[in-house]
Amino acid sequence: MSYIQEVIEQTELKNPGQPQFMQTVKEVLTSLKPAVEQNEAKLRKNVILERMVEPDRQIIFRVPWVDDKGVYHVNRGYRIQFNNAIGPYKGGLRFQKDVNLDTMKFLAFEQTFKNSLTSLPMGGGKGGSDFDPTGKSDDEIMRFCQSFMSELYRHIGPNMDVPAGDMGVGGREIGYLFGWYKKIVGDYENGVLTGKGLSYGGSLIRPEATGFGATYFLEEVLKHQGEHLEGKTFALSGFGNVAWGASKKISELGGKVITLSGPDGYIYDPDGVSGEKVDYLLEMRASNRNRVQDYADKYGVKFVTGKKPWGNVKADVYMPCARQNEILLEDAEAMVKLGVPILNEVSNMPTTNEAIAYLQSHGVLVAPSKAVNAGGVATSGLEMSQNSERLAWSATEVDSKLKGIMAGIHNQICGALDAYGLDYNLVAGANLAGFKKVADAMLAQGLY
Ligand code: GLU
Repeated sequence: MSYIQEVIEQTELKNPGQPQFMQTVKEVLTSLKPAVEQNEAKLRKNVILERMVEPDRQIIFRVPWVDDKGVYHVNRGYRIQFNNAIGPYKGGLRFQKDVNLDTMKFLAFEQTFKNSLTSLPMGGGKGGSDFDPTGKSDDEIMRFCQSFMSELYRHIGPNMDVPAGDMGVGGREIGYLFGWYKKIVGDYENGVLTGKGLSYGGSLIRPEATGFGATYFLEEVLKHQGEHLEGKTFALSGFGNVAWGASKKISELGGKVITLSGPDGYIYDPDGVSGEKVDYLLEMRASNRNRVQDYADKYGVKFVTGKKPWGNVKADVYMPCARQNEILLEDAEAMVKLGVPILNEVSNMPTTNEAIAYLQSHGVLVAPSKAVNAGGVATSGLEMSQNSERLAWSATEVDSKLKGIMAGIHNQICGALDAYGLDYNLVAGANLAGFKKVADAMLAQGLY
C-alpha cells in the first residue's frame, strides 16, 4: 500500500465520525503524490504525513452565558492548534450552530496549507463555538464573547496563537473578545487578535480582504487563460463579509454579480450588485436576521426560496462564498450542463471531492479555496506586522501588498506544477506548494 494510502487509512481509524476532516485529508494527501514519491524514504522516516494529520492539540471547553431574559445557557468552545512549523497558530473563530469538532479540524487542517501559501510566517489553527448568533442582541453577543474569552485567553498570545474572525465573528465580536482579553491579562497586547477595529490596531482593508483577494486571484487565473474580468457575470452565494468584499471589487472592475444567497434561498439581480446595494449587505449582516430575502424586498428583484444558485443560474464564474459542501455532485452536473466554465471557490471546502473530480474531468477550471480565500488571513498577517511595529499602513499600501501576495500565490502554484510536470490543475498545485514549506520546516526542526 502506498504511504499516502496508509496514512489516510490510519487517519480514518483514529477519527471516526469526522467526514469533513477526512474529506480534506483525502483531498490534500492524494494531491501530494508526486512530492511524496520523490522523497518517500525521508518523509516516512520523519513521519511527516502522520504528524501533519494529527493536530498539535485540540482544546474543548464549556462556555456558559446568560441571555437578556436571565435564562442560563451552555455552549461548547473549541480551539484546534494544528501546526506551528512555520509560525504561531493563526486562523479564525466561527460561531455557528452546527459547529463541531469535525468542522473545526477540517478548517484548521486547511488553514495550515493556506497560511503557508501566503508566504507569511503563520501556522494553522481554528476555533469557535456552536453558539448561534441569529437573533441575539448586542448584549448577548458581548456576554457570550466574554465567557468564551475567559477560557480561550490562556491558550493564545501574539507569538503563540492569533485568532481572528470567521463566520459569525466580525468586527463587533473581535472588539468584545479583545476587551475581555485585555482585562484578564492586564496588558495591551493587541497582536493577539486580528480583524480588530481601526481605533485599536486593526488594519485598513482587512474587512474587504477575503473578497478582494479572491477577485485578485481570479484575475491572475483569467490572465493565465488570456481572458479578463470586465464584462463577466458572477453567481455568488452568501451575503456576509466575504460576498460583500467580492461584490465590491468585482463591480469596481467591471464585472456583474447577479446572485447572492442565504439560508432562506437566493436572489437574482440581473442589473448586478453594485453601489449602494453593496453597502446594504452590511446592514443585512448587522441586523442578525440572516435572511437574503431582505435584499429582494428592498430592490424588487427575484427571490427563490430554499435554493442555491448552483445549476439554476448561468454565469461566467461561480463563486461560492457561503459555507462548506455547498456544491455536491448533482450541482456539478447541472453546472456542466449549463456550461459554466470556472469555479472560484471562496468559502472553505465548498465543493465535495467527487464534485471537484467531476468538474475537472469535464473541463471546468476549479480554483481551490485555500488559495482563493487566502487574502483574508494574509491581511491578518499584515495586521500582525503593523501591530508589532506599532504603525499603520494606508489603505493603498495594504491593498497593493494584498494584490502582490495573491499574485505570489498563483506564481507559487504554477511553480509547483512546473516542478512536477503537471498541467494547470490549481487544486493539486495549491496543495503541493502549501505542503513544501511546512514539510521543509518540520524536517528541519526534528521530531516533535
Ligand atoms: N477565517 C479566515 C480564514 O479562514 C481568516 C483567518 C485569519 O485572519 O486569521 O482564513
